[in-house]
Amino acid sequence: MSEQTTSRFVLARRPRRLRRTDAIRRLVRETQLTPDCFIYPLFITSGTGVRRAITSMPGVFQLSVDEAVKEAAAAYADGVPGVLLFGLPESKDAVGSTAADAHAPVQSAVRELKRAIPNLIVVTDVCLCEYTSHGHCGILEGDEILNDVTVSHLVEVALSHATAGADFVAPSDMMDGRVAAIRQGLDERGFERVGIMSYAAKYCSAFYGPFRDAADSAPQFGDRRSHQMDPANVEEALREVETDLNEGADIVIVKPALTYLDVVSRVKERFRQPTAAYHVSGEYAMLKAAAANGWIDEPRAMMETLTAIRRAGADIIITYYARAAARALRSERSDRSNRSDR
Ligand SMILES: [Zn+2]
Repeated sequence: MSEQTTSRFVLARRPRRLRRTDAIRRLVRETQLTPDCFIYPLFITSGTGVRRAITSMPGVFQLSVDEAVKEAAAAYADGVPGVLLFGLPESKDAVGSTAADAHAPVQSAVRELKRAIPNLIVVTDVCLCEYTSHGHCGILEGDEILNDVTVSHLVEVALSHATAGADFVAPSDMMDGRVAAIRQGLDERGFERVGIMSYAAKYCSAFYGPFRDAADSAPQFGDRRSHQMDPANVEEALREVETDLNEGADIVIVKPALTYLDVVSRVKERFRQPTAAYHVSGEYAMLKAAAANGWIDEPRAMMETLTAIRRAGADIIITYYARAAARALRSERSDRSNRSDR
């Protein structure tokens, strides 16, 4: 029976017309997901030939510099334009002195990556928590993180990354004034072209759990509530972003992504500046765990998640799914050209 004979009335609007075929759906699609917006996080460790699986993050590895070059080259071939590096030092102390070491894993990886893949965008995480014996993001006095002392250490870390050849440094510590201090430090040393991708609105989140295994950076006591943001706040996020932009941030990051999509939206709408969202380890691990149990269709859940982050307003998505999603987007394109539309 056709629609004509059963319909009792004329509908002015039939939204389903625009969902009828794949080609029409693509024609009216509002959000485009492209590998151009992905940044792929990598965990760099010492040694050679090391590719150590991280149990809570299936598909993610701690990589020695040589393996990181292979992984980044494969990602770049998949269409992923950039990587974000985290370091696992050989030794730790109370002030995280190895964070600024020119021969530490991150600095070595930056040099090798820029040598092997000159057009790869190399971003480096700047914080002390991976390098301090207590696992806190800064220099302590008693139980308290000293802001300004920490900032001066962070400037040294950022300079060591810039010297190695980083395109962007990404301070994730949430100390006050660190963007201005890093910008000034970079400019004074002739690194005007090195950008700052600041973790402007970084929340004190339960979703960082697997990352702390990956980066071996769990605090030995206490938590990060004295510097990371309260999950209940959004006005404060706007103030943080405004401050970082005023201090010279080129790109601002909201972290995590999914539980803060409203923050991503507000930041993008208010400032109209390049905005990144970090799809964090716990968000990734949840999808992986549900998929491993057969509870969700992982490829679809991955694309839906990344599309949602982009729809909320993120220009850039930092995600452990970068390679998988880039490959999925490419195979979707080639499938389309190989079959007629239904
Ligand atoms: Zn930290």
